[in-house]
This record gives sequence, structure tokens and C-alpha cells, in this order.
Amino acid sequence: MVNKLNSYDYVVIGSGPCGMVSGNLLSKKGKTIIIEEGPKVEDRERDIYTYKQISNGYVGGGINVAIGYPPVLLSEGKCIGGGSAVNSSLHHRAPTHVWHKWRELFNLKGFDEEFVENSYKEIENIFSTKKGNIKASIFYETAELIGEKVTRIPRWGNEDSNGRLDRWTARKIFYQKLIDNGTKILHLTKFLSAERDKNNIWNIHLKDLQNKKIFKIFSANLILGMGSGKTPIALRNLGLKHPQLGKFEIHPSARVSCYFPKAEKSQSIVEPFQITGHFPYLMIGSSATRSELSESFYPYKNNIDEIDFSYVQNFYAMAPSNKKGKIVLKGIFKGLKFYFLDSRAKFHLKEGMNLIIKIAKKANSPLIYHTGMTLDLNKNNSPKHIDDFIESCIKKTLSSVHVMSSAAIGENRKFCPLNSYGKIPGIDNLLIVDQSTLPSCPTVNPQATSCVISLINTKRFLNEKQ
Ligand SMILES: Cc1cc2nc3c(=O)[nH]c(=O)nc-3n(C[C@H](O)[C@H](O)[C@H](O)COP(=O)(O)OP(=O)(O)OC[C@H]3O[C@@H](n4cnc5c(N)ncnc54)[C@H](O)[C@@H]3O)c2cc1C
Repeated sequence: MVNKLNSYDYVVIGSGPCGMVSGNLLSKKGKTIIIEEGPKVEDRERDIYTYKQISNGYVGGGINVAIGYPPVLLSEGKCIGGGSAVNSSLHHRAPTHVWHKWRELFNLKGFDEEFVENSYKEIENIFSTKKGNIKASIFYETAELIGEKVTRIPRWGNEDSNGRLDRWTARKIFYQKLIDNGTKILHLTKFLSAERDKNNIWNIHLKDLQNKKIFKIFSANLILGMGSGKTPIALRNLGLKHPQLGKFEIHPSARVSCYFPKAEKSQSIVEPFQITGHFPYLMIGSSATRSELSESFYPYKNNIDEIDFSYVQNFYAMAPSNKKGKIVLKGIFKGLKFYFLDSRAKFHLKEGMNLIIKIAKKANSPLIYHTGMTLDLNKNNSPKHIDDFIESCIKKTLSSVHVMSSAAIGENRKFCPLNSYGKIPGIDNLLIVDQSTLPSCPTVNPQATSCVISLINTKRFLNEKQ
């Protein structure tokens, strides 16, 4: 136990769901502080995917692009609660074949099936994970009618009788609880660097972003939960060199808007349904449905008054891929990301777009569009026109809200910069807990799986200290 004012047992950098899950456990064992670069943002269902939340609570104010052909728009949270404060709250467990691959290919140790199963249960309980009763919109009803498999996805929080979600984010679950147990949480405070002194104590350099002051704190242990975009840069600064460090994976996605002027409006901002019959190659789901977003995606300004954007629904096709992008880890271009879409993922995205168009057409949508082009199926139905529409859709809307695996864990030294326990061998008082540690793309939404790894490795870290 450390007693000095600016000295801690555990310093956690990053207040995303993984940092908070870890910080919560650590705070029961010693003096803990959590450092967060971003601000506090509102995180109720009505706050998500608003311009205010995107500009205040996302990395780059929402402008975070991986350079490539086509460029990819990445979304990452930068606020108290990290991505959990801004995301769609859709819960998945990584399938057992993915965990099997991680054990076989990455030689992941200490994540036995039963242990993982129990840890998912613990995370599901912490995040109040439930399947709701909300009614599916015309798109998913029609998808089922034409024989597609539609799955209701559990969400984090409680749905009321009108289908509104009381979201359980890392901020909602942990923030007040941690403050009450004496843990400090500093937001708008940026981690700059750290080094160990001769007593093996971390000297940690931070910047107060409001007062623009740099200051130092000390800690027996340093825990990094900065997310997959930032943690590999910090690890490189700490001296870790590994050819796979900073090589990240994403879930390439393309988005399209469908107008259903005669249908009942969807009940939620993000509908908790997915078309899962083509899994793990392709998933189709809802992206945020908000009038102002749907209007901003419409490519023309002249006939805008003819469309009631509150009847537009937005959908994505997502094609999990093991293609690696690259984060520049040092030098003047530090932080730049590069990503080139592979031909397999592109093939699946095209299949996904074709399927969305087929369903929307069957559901009598008179207009489908993306930021570059519209598709009026009553006027021009030719396969060539549809093909051009899909091709330009992928170019204009390629994006991902899942950045991962940039500091993979496992015992296979060729593929894994970190060992299975989220550590650099030889440094006992440094632990990595965020989504960078996923060995590879989990093929489903990743938050719960990243939290399971954080939970297991933080418990192990604490056990080793006893
Ligand atoms: C729009 C969106 C929708 C999503 N939808 C879903 C979904 O429905 N289901 C799902 O499973 N997943 C979803 N995700 C992904 C999910 O949010 C992530 O899996 C999760 O947030 C990863 O947690 P993390 O703790 O690893 O990192 P993050 O949540 O990224 O948290 C890292 C934190 O570290 C902070 N940080 C970084 N650098 C520093 C520094 N130098 N100093 C101090 N602090 C720093 C960041 O500001 C950030 O708050 C979505 C993500 C987004 C952006």
C-alpha cells in the first residue's frame, strides 16, 4: 500500500469498459487512480449518435480515417466510459471456434472453455445484459418472410415498455461506485509517457488538458486500457519492439439508407436485430437511425423537401476480416493508420449490399441511397446500375466501429507482442487490458470479449501480487 498523496498502487490509463472493469477490481486491493483523456459526455439512449456526442466523445471529433483505397472511417470513443458510452450496446460472445483458434494458433494459455464461459456470465451480469421485446421493423419482418435468419441481439441495460433502453455503460456502472470507494478518476487528463525508476516505481507523466499543465504521479503498477488505436503507441514508447505491434484488424462495414415512407417507424435508435444466416462471413444490422444523420447521408440537396427523413432507416453490411492495417508507432507520422480492404471482405460486403437492396425492394422502399448516389428501383433496375451503386457505396461509406488486435496476447511469439497474461515478459508491474489484446478479429461485436480478457488477466495479475 502506498501512502504519499500523488503515489498509487495502481494507475489505470483509459476509462473504456476494459479499463473500468480492471480498475474496479484493482481498487478493491489498493490505492487506484483512473486517467482519461476525454470529457464526460451524456450516455443515455437519446444521446447516442447525436452530433454533440460524436464531436465531444469520439476520437478526432468523429474524423478518424485510416488511409487506404478506399479510405476507412474509424469510430473510437474518447470520453469517460470510452466506446461503451457511445456505442450501440449490442452484446455478443465470440463463438467457440474463435476461442479454439486463439488457443491453437496464438497458443493462448489460461483461457480454458469453462473459465471463459463463467467470465462471460460475470461480464453479462455486470453490464445487465438482456434480450428485450422490442418489435422488429418492416425491414427485418420482410427479411424473415423471404427466408433470412433474423436474430434478436441482447443489449446492455433495461428496456422499458416503450422499447427505450436504459443503457448500462462503463460510466454508469462504475463511475460513481469507484468515486465512492475512494478511487480518483481524472478526466480531460492525458497520459504522455512513463518510465520505471531504480526502485521499479513507475514515474507517470500526465497533462491536464484544461489548465495545460504537465505533472507527474507515481505508481507501483501501470495498467494500460487506452484502446486498440493508442495502446500500441504507448507500448512502443515503453520500449516494446515486435513486428506485429500496431498491426490492427477491423470489421469492414458499408452503410446504406432505405426510405420506408409507409411503414411504422423503428422503435429504437439502433434496432437490436441482425441477419445472421451468413455468419461468420457477413452480418447485416442496423446503424443509427436519426433524421439528421439520414439527411446528411442523402447525396443531393435539391429535392430534399420531398423526403421525410424520420422514415429512413440505415443498415450496414459487415464482413469480418483478418486483414491487418498498420498504425505508425513513432516519428512525425505517429498515430497515422493505414488499411487496405481485401478482396474477400469486399466480395462479402457486395453480397450484403445486394441482400439489403433485395429486402428493401420487397418491403416497398421507393428510395435507397448512400452519400454518393441514389437508387430508384422503379426507374432503373438494371444489374449494372445496382452494381455501380454498390461499388460506389463501398468506396464512400467504408467504415468500422471495431478496431482491435494491435497488441495481441498469446504464447506464439511470432504473432503476439504480449504474453497470454497481457504482459511483456520480464516486466511484472505492467498490464495491458484493452481491445488491442484480442488475438484476432472475434467475428462479432467485440466489447464483451475484450472485457472478459480484461477481467481474467486483471484477476491473474492480482493473484500474482499476493
Ligand atoms: C460507435 C460505436 C459503436 C459500437 N457498437 C458496439 C456494440 O454494439 N457492441 C460491441 O460489442 N461493441 C461496440 N463497439 C465497440 C466497443 O465500444 C469497444 O469494444 C470497446 O469500447 C473497447 O473498449 P476498450 O476499453 O478496449 O477501449 P475504449 O472504449 O476505446 O477506451 C479507451 C479509452 O482510453 C482513453 N485514452 C486513450 N489514450 C489515452 C491517453 N493518452 N490518456 C488518457 N486516456 C486515453 C480513450 O479516450 C478512451 O476513453 C462500438 C464502438 C463504437 C465507437
